[in-house]
Amino acid sequence: MIKIPEKITLANLPTKIEKLERLSPKLGGPNIYIKRDDQTGTEVSGNKIRKLEFAVKEALDQGCDVLITCGGSQSNHCRATAAAAARIGIKSVLVLRGSSNEESDGNLFINRLLGAQIRFITPEEYRNKRAEIMEKIKAELEEQGRRPYIIPEGASNGIGSFGYYTAMAEIVRQEKELGVHFDRIVIAAGSGGTYSGLFLASKTLGYTGQIYGINVCDDAEYFKNQIDKIVRESMQYINVDLQFSKDEIHMIDGYVGQGYALSRPEEMHFIHEFARLEGIILDPVYTGKAMYGLAEEIKKGNFKTCENILFIHTGGAFGLFPKKHLFTLPQV
Ligand SMILES: *Cc1c(COP(=O)(O)O)cnc(C)c1O
Repeated sequence: MIKIPEKITLANLPTKIEKLERLSPKLGGPNIYIKRDDQTGTEVSGNKIRKLEFAVKEALDQGCDVLITCGGSQSNHCRATAAAAARIGIKSVLVLRGSSNEESDGNLFINRLLGAQIRFITPEEYRNKRAEIMEKIKAELEEQGRRPYIIPEGASNGIGSFGYYTAMAEIVRQEKELGVHFDRIVIAAGSGGTYSGLFLASKTLGYTGQIYGINVCDDAEYFKNQIDKIVRESMQYINVDLQFSKDEIHMIDGYVGQGYALSRPEEMHFIHEFARLEGIILDPVYTGKAMYGLAEEIKKGNFKTCENILFIHTGGAFGLFPKKHLFTLPQV
């Protein structure tokens, strides 16, 4: 019996699984189901809160009173961290890639509303020394008598990815309740923690389907290495030593488009069409690209041996607002 680390409760779980009744027949491929992890909460909505339940528990056990983390200026992870901190009555410091001139919209606006302390750094600083910058902030806070705890980008580390270890267990239970087996689970991959948790649990729980990540930045090789590293880190928490190969990590590369958080017209068009078709809002940075990618792959016949696919809607709706000018909507 594997004993996983403890967590605190911040998310609304379990999340529902629904069938996409109109998109599936329209594409003429397998049945597509969607797991509504966009509904894990309001302020804490999306996939990051599952990971933060574990990371914040570890932080609190260490006596932490400030959470430090980092991300893009519209990071859902930073917003969920700010919300989690406010919810439990501690402080948060966010190191954001961007500039203070940016309009206070979407997640950035909510961070401010939630009382997060924000520190902007340049893209170069973010790429080369974000860890160093967070360490420096930590040291400064310690000097002031605080107990800071650093959560890495996306909470995608050994402890954070247990959020999706338990999500996998949830999915296996829901398969039984619904009487449906999912041949494939498809997700957007941004920092790899979601994939890592699902992958590790799929092994320990004996899930027989396969997990596919659609990367929204970098490339397949980068994610295979990243996921391999995170899974190995997680295994140390539970004292298991699973043998697996990087070839078992399935990434669908080709849907990064213009680059991380940059949108193409076909992606915005797809989000618009999907909203009208299914009444579900995808985000421009992750789920919009991933669901677009899945639809394209189905059209190419790449999932034709599958009966049922489960797409996990990992959230991100607040990120739509700063991009509203990219949609061509009817003027009412
Ligand atoms: C962060 C994020 C992802 C990617 O999850 P990772 O664990 O970082 O790979 C997907 N969707 C949304 C909405 C996100 O905010």
